[in-house]
Amino acid sequence: MVIEMSGDACLEKAFQRAGREFGYNAVKAEFSPFRELKIRWQRSAGWAEFKVSDYLSDADEIIIEDLARVLFMRIAQGKRSKYPEELQEWMASPDFVKKKQPVFLRRSRNLSRDPRGKCYDLRNSYERLIETGMVERDPEVFLSWTLRPNLRRVGYCSVFMKVIAISCALDDKVIPEFVTEYVLYHELLHLADGPSMSGQVHDEEFRRREKMHPMWKEAEEWLRRLSVDI
Ligand SMILES: [Zn+2]
Repeated sequence: MVIEMSGDACLEKAFQRAGREFGYNAVKAEFSPFRELKIRWQRSAGWAEFKVSDYLSDADEIIIEDLARVLFMRIAQGKRSKYPEELQEWMASPDFVKKKQPVFLRRSRNLSRDPRGKCYDLRNSYERLIETGMVERDPEVFLSWTLRPNLRRVGYCSVFMKVIAISCALDDKVIPEFVTEYVLYHELLHLADGPSMSGQVHDEEFRRREKMHPMWKEAEEWLRRLSVDI
């Protein structure tokens, strides 16, 4: 008799197999429609429960099992780690972005889903960054303004979904366009760095590359004045 398993059942089986290798005998796992591609877990001695982003629901079972192993290893060692290579490759494929980016955009409530703001068009900043050799063109990247003027964080990048959002607080003729361009440049650096399980990092090397923007000082000055973060 062939028993067909649903995506959730496959996921749980893969996590249970990986869990046994690390001494976890009670493992639960299910897909969850998070907006972000992320994995949440709870655990105690011998048991663990995972909620895995449903963006991974059509991933190969082997990829899922590798991911589960990396997660258990991370839990055991408490160390930051990278996503398994095969998973990264799959997520970096044009097919993945083509399929998941529209879902991500639908789930994002605060995006205008339009690069044209009331003052500035993000595509102009993007083209300038390409022309000056600051960044390479990525045909899959989706640029959008936010709907509400987030002042806590003016730039946002989903590396997996290749979506960059800039707070519409900067879409104001009082603020020069190079500020928007600089924030966009910062987010494009994250995109170029690719996915990391430890989140987006601003290490020394990142700061060095950031300063390659000809207006970094003036832009940072503006951001300080507006007391916002990127
Ligand atoms: Zn950043």
